[in-house]
Amino acid sequence: MKASGILKIARSWQYAKGWLKSIPKKIIFGSTLLFVLVSAVPVVDTGPFPFPGKAVSDLILPVLMASPQTKTISGKVKSGETASSLLRDYMPLQVIYDIDRQAKEVFPLTRIRKGQPYKISLLEDSFVAFEYEIDNNDRLLIQKDTDSFAVTKLPIEYQIRQEVVSVDIQSSLAEAVKRAKEQADLTWMLADIFAWDIDFIRDIRPGDTFKALVEKKYRDGRFCGYADIRAAFFTNQGTTYQAFLHEDARGRKAYYDEKGHSLEKAFLKAPVNYSRISSAFSNRRFHPILKKYRSHPGIDYAAPRNTPIKAVADGVISSIYYSKTTGRQITLRHFSGYETAYFHMNKYAKGMKKGRQVTQGDVIGYVGKTGLATGYHLCFRMRKNGRPVNPLDQAPSAGKPVAQAEMDHFTFLAGKYTEMIQAHQKLARSTP
Ligand SMILES: [Zn+2]
Repeated sequence: MKASGILKIARSWQYAKGWLKSIPKKIIFGSTLLFVLVSAVPVVDTGPFPFPGKAVSDLILPVLMASPQTKTISGKVKSGETASSLLRDYMPLQVIYDIDRQAKEVFPLTRIRKGQPYKISLLEDSFVAFEYEIDNNDRLLIQKDTDSFAVTKLPIEYQIRQEVVSVDIQSSLAEAVKRAKEQADLTWMLADIFAWDIDFIRDIRPGDTFKALVEKKYRDGRFCGYADIRAAFFTNQGTTYQAFLHEDARGRKAYYDEKGHSLEKAFLKAPVNYSRISSAFSNRRFHPILKKYRSHPGIDYAAPRNTPIKAVADGVISSIYYSKTTGRQITLRHFSGYETAYFHMNKYAKGMKKGRQVTQGDVIGYVGKTGLATGYHLCFRMRKNGRPVNPLDQAPSAGKPVAQAEMDHFTFLAGKYTEMIQAHQKLARSTP
C-alpha cells in the first residue's frame, strides 16, 4: 500500500515537471499558481473540468509535489542593504542596473529603506519577482517577463473591518484613546471631526464620551492602521454632537450632522466693513514709518475710526495687550490650528479678556491707529499651526449641506451607522 503510494508520487513528479514546462512562463508565478489551483479545487470539482481524461487528484498532487521548486525569500531591509545587495544573488549586476534605470520613474530603488518588508520569489532557483513595501499604501513589484522586467507600483490591499470604538474620558482624549487600546492616530482623527465646534484641549471634561464607527485596515490578520471614521458621537459636558461621513457625487468626503449640515464652518470674509485694502499680504514691502523693507504677513483694511472689528470665527482670546508697534491687539485661537490677530485697535469691546470665548461675528474691538500706524486701519493676520498664511487664500469656506438628491442615501446610512453604534452600546451594557 505504502510502496504503491510512493510509486504514484514518483510518477506524478515526472508528470508535474513536464506539465509545468508546458505552461507559458508568464502564468507561472511562484506560489501564486499553487494557491490559485488549490483554492480553485471546489469550483473545478463541480464545474466542467478543463483537463479531459484527468481526475482532479491527478492534477493537484503534481502541483503540490512541484511546490518545493518555488521559493519565497522574505524579510525586512537591514541597515546598509540596497536593491543590488538584495538581488545580486539572482541576477547579474548589469541587469540590476537596467532594472534600476527602468524603476526610476515608478520608484527609484535608491529609496529602499531600512525596516521595510520585501519578498523575492524564485522558481527553480531563478528569479521571478521582487516585491517591496514602499509605505502603508503602496508596494513596488518587479516581475520577470520573458526577457524583460515589468516594474509597477501597486496599492497594498487591506481587508477593512468596521468596529465600534468607545472611549470614556477621564483626563484627556489622548489618554482615553490609549486606555481603549487604540493607536494615537485615532485621537487626531476624532478631534479633527469636531474641530470646528470643540477645542479638545480646553473643552474636554471628565465623563465626556466618544463612540465611533471606525474602519480598521488589516493585512494577514494584522492591524495596519485606520481608514475612515464612518460616524462619531461625542458627548461633551452633557451635549451630544453627531458626525456622519458622506461622500458626495464628486467623491469629496466630509462630515455632516444628523440633519445633513456640514460640520465645516467658514471664516467671515473680512473682520471689518472696510473702505479699501491699504496693504495686501506680502513677504516684502516698504514700511512707511520704519522706512525699511519688511514683510507684511497680513492684510491692512483701511476703515474709519471706531469701525467695529468682528471675530472671523468662533474662538478663544489667547492674548490681549498693548504693544508699541502693533498697538492694542487681540489674538484669537480657532479650530484646526488657526489663529487670527487684530492690531492697532482704538479700543477693545466691553468684557474682552484673555480666555474669553467669542462667537463668529462678535465685535471684539474698534478700528484705531495705536502703535505704529499712519492712518486708521485694521491690520489683520492669520496663522495656521503657527505659520503666517494669507487669510484670503487660506480661509476655509463653510461646507455646504448634503445635496438634496443625496439626502435619502445620507439619511439611510446615518440611520444604519447609528444603529450599529447603539447596538454596541447595548452589548457593552449587558456584559459586565
Ligand atoms: Zn498691517
